[in-house]
Amino acid sequence: MAGSLVTEALEQAWRPVLLFVLGSCIGSFLNVCITRLPRGESILFPASRCRACKTQLPGWANVPLLSYILLRARCVLCGVRISPRYFLVELCTAAMAPACYYRFGPGGLFLARLSFACALLTAAVIDFETGIIPDVISVPGTGAGLALSCIAPALAIPDMPSPPSAVLGACLGGGVLLATARGYRAITGRDGLGRGDVKLLAMIGAFAGWDGVPGILFWSALTGTCWGLGLMLLRKDVSLTTPLPFAPFLCLGALLRMS
Ligand SMILES: [Zn+2]
Repeated sequence: MAGSLVTEALEQAWRPVLLFVLGSCIGSFLNVCITRLPRGESILFPASRCRACKTQLPGWANVPLLSYILLRARCVLCGVRISPRYFLVELCTAAMAPACYYRFGPGGLFLARLSFACALLTAAVIDFETGIIPDVISVPGTGAGLALSCIAPALAIPDMPSPPSAVLGACLGGGVLLATARGYRAITGRDGLGRGDVKLLAMIGAFAGWDGVPGILFWSALTGTCWGLGLMLLRKDVSLTTPLPFAPFLCLGALLRMS
């Protein structure tokens, strides 16, 4: 009896640590996706290499979080500085894995929400760095959201939208942004929102359902506007006409609404 209690206590103590380590490994893979997808490169081959010296990194220089700290943010081979993005993405997913587990419990909803959050993080960082959102995330992501709404009852995954709600969510999300983008262009003669944003909100709508879309739009517009106004106050080269990435705020809105 006492033995089983000790085993259970140890398991309880180690579970968040294991989830943190698993999350950091997922983050390491997302970093590969963030670096390679906008360049149209394979995310599987070749193995991780330094972008500066093009040399394959030894395994010990690829340990999530630790290698970045121990190597002081530099390539072990050529000494070039490595972007803090690598560390921040790994830290973010390392925190998200236990957070999703304890919020949604073990099972299908945990896997669904964590996968969704990873797709959002990848899209947000790529848009922030390059100004594009690869279709390879949003288009299959929309399909995954719709498929999940169909199979969720059979897999006993709670809190997923019904198939009609997921379809309506995708149409509403994509439709609202498409109408906004066309309206903005008609009035100002400039492009304000990209097609990538439209497809990303369609994907988010497929996961959130139609009734989740208004709240997500509210939070993303609010946080995006605050960010834009803050940049205008702090930087002279930013004005009302400066294009700013919107995907990070769509993703933040989705995470706030669905957490
Ligand atoms: Zn190097």
